Amino acid sequence: MMRAPTQVPLPQPDAVSEPFWAGCGERRLLVQRCLKCGAYQSTPRAMCRICRATDFAWQESKGEGRVFTYTIVCHPPSSALKDEVPYVVVVVKLNDCGGALLISNLVGEAAEKVAVDRPVRLLWDNKAGAWLPRFELADVGAGGR
Ligand SMILES: [Zn+2]
Repeated sequence: MMRAPTQVPLPQPDAVSEPFWAGCGERRLLVQRCLKCGAYQSTPRAMCRICRATDFAWQESKGEGRVFTYTIVCHPPSSALKDEVPYVVVVVKLNDCGGALLISNLVGEAAEKVAVDRPVRLLWDNKAGAWLPRFELADVGAGGR
């Protein structure tokens, strides 16, 4: 079974990302939406990736999407993660919020069955000491296909 890494650095909110992390604390997945051009970006940034405007609203996502791409990490990138491998790093394309891309972990008993375009759903994980958005495959039955 693939687990999410637990020995990870905890979020360090700054002025730009604080609303995102505050949303996570309430188990709400928030995505930036540019007030000038309407573009969405799931990694909070000070400037719109499309039009470079600096005014944003935050929209809550339902947390449903599909695997855009992924990798299975087998070699720990730091000694702190040596007991955590293997784990799946996934880029999720959200069904809402303009198809914004979100980097996360795919977890659960069926995570090793990860493939591009499989449907995923959000779950909240607090094992690392902060509420973090993770995903699991949405098209597996109780037996884990
Ligand atoms: Zn914009």
